[in-house]
Amino acid sequence: MKYIQPKLNEKSFTCPHCGVLAKQEWHARSMDFYHNGLSQYDILGSAKCQHCNEYSIWIKDKMFYPENGNAPFPNTEMPESVKTLYLEAASIQNKSPRGAAALLRLAIQILCKELGEQGDNINNDIKSLVKKGLPEIVQQSLDVVRVTGNDAVHPGQIDTDSQEIVNQLFELINVIIEYMIALPKKVSGIYLNLPSSKIDGIKKRDTY
Ligand SMILES: [Zn+2]
Repeated sequence: MKYIQPKLNEKSFTCPHCGVLAKQEWHARSMDFYHNGLSQYDILGSAKCQHCNEYSIWIKDKMFYPENGNAPFPNTEMPESVKTLYLEAASIQNKSPRGAAALLRLAIQILCKELGEQGDNINNDIKSLVKKGLPEIVQQSLDVVRVTGNDAVHPGQIDTDSQEIVNQLFELINVIIEYMIALPKKVSGIYLNLPSSKIDGIKKRDTY
């Protein structure tokens, strides 16, 4: 299913409650907040999902409720150890993109280990996963994330306070899982459901 990231005043997006791409009914008002004696003009908004009727609460352009708001739904095949970090990163990304990026880096390392890699250096692990069938574009997108982040990063590290890069990291984890776990599982399911005569035929073909 296509994922549309929630944005302030967007007519429809993927609902953080039900995960369905649904129309949103917006109610927004501007408010004066007093901060250090200064008046600040902010938007306080709420969006009601037309599919599940749950609300998301917004201040300025950030979703404050539910906590996982701006992060895409975790892939259903995500290993538990990775999911724990993924959801923790989702819950802090608004307050601390840098902290979220650090958790997501750890999540990628653990994911690589789950996939049989070393888990020490993300770049090497992803390179190796590409040899095993991960599309090269995923490696390239990791390079983009690394390059556009802080210049002072060490190889394989991701240190950023950019919300956009944090969002790319969430996507990246989901894409790796889709290609390395979900798709092979689906395809092997199709294979096993073939009549055994067909499987025998395929096996015979492959031996020549
Ligand atoms: Zn919903």
